[in-house]
Amino acid sequence: MNSLKVYSMASDPIYIGTGGYTIGRVDNTIVRDPITRLPKIPGSSFAGTMRFYSTLKLQSAFKEGYRKDPNSRREKDINELFDKPEDWMKYEGNRWSLMKCAGQDDKPNEYYEDLEKMNATKSGHCSHCIVCKTFGYSKDNKSQQGIAFFSDLNIIFFPVYTRKGVMWITSKQLLEFAGIILRDIESPQGEQVFVISRKDEKNTINLGWLNLPYITKNYPIEDELQEDIKKYIQNKIVLVPDDLISHIINSNLEVRTSVSIDPLTGAARDKALFTSEAIPRGTIFYGDIRLMERPVSNDMPGLSLVEAMIKDASKYYESFGIGGMVTRGFGRMKVFI
Ligand SMILES: [Zn+2]
Repeated sequence: MNSLKVYSMASDPIYIGTGGYTIGRVDNTIVRDPITRLPKIPGSSFAGTMRFYSTLKLQSAFKEGYRKDPNSRREKDINELFDKPEDWMKYEGNRWSLMKCAGQDDKPNEYYEDLEKMNATKSGHCSHCIVCKTFGYSKDNKSQQGIAFFSDLNIIFFPVYTRKGVMWITSKQLLEFAGIILRDIESPQGEQVFVISRKDEKNTINLGWLNLPYITKNYPIEDELQEDIKKYIQNKIVLVPDDLISHIINSNLEVRTSVSIDPLTGAARDKALFTSEAIPRGTIFYGDIRLMERPVSNDMPGLSLVEAMIKDASKYYESFGIGGMVTRGFGRMKVFI
């Protein structure tokens, strides 16, 4: 089992709704971890979007004619099908790939044992391409679990406005969840927090509306981080007690008020004011993608191809995002694999 570490940073607020619960003043609430109460991006959303973007990348690389007529791809040399094939695109089964491989299978009960009889435009998942092999598919007489398993993306650093500018809070436990285990660091106790810095200082710091005493600690947390993430939060980390982190994060989420628009009149509907909460821009998440080695005889793509596909597909999150309300400026994030 190989594991790819994933860091991501929200470049827009991120909204992944629970569909219907109202908590306090918020109508549209976001998904939270049931134990920690911390907002998160569920692994299912992460995997679903990754599947879509992988398919999009593959389909857009086909030459015009082959994109339109999947049946014409069968006899061709795989290299000929693409304008500029990346290595993972040359995987033999990709000649069967369809845009439909992106979504949920709309025809799970048909399986084409005999490829020649398949009418590509009418089937659900093709079950042969690298996307189907990576993310899994199921058909009547055959179902196959994917190669890739996506964890939730959990918050590891959360931006909070302070007198010192924006600082990113975390806790010893959040770092440990992300595999950053530093033996010689203590967790702050009570209401005290640690500002991570080389300078020796003590004072108070406001984390949102909460004013707390701090002392500085020279903990090597940044050394454990990937360069892309490190450059944003260098000298701006605040370690807070584990029992305070959920409270601070939940009271510093972005809450937006919107109005439902009547599609016929274009005017606001009566009593149509609603509020939505979202994970703010600048939040940094951590997760992983595990890749399961399968016997070669199983006709599976090699893990290096799968990894290359995931890295290519990850770039789409910067423009198309994840979660709800993406057409209203939500959801874009940078993903670092
Ligand atoms: Zn497919």
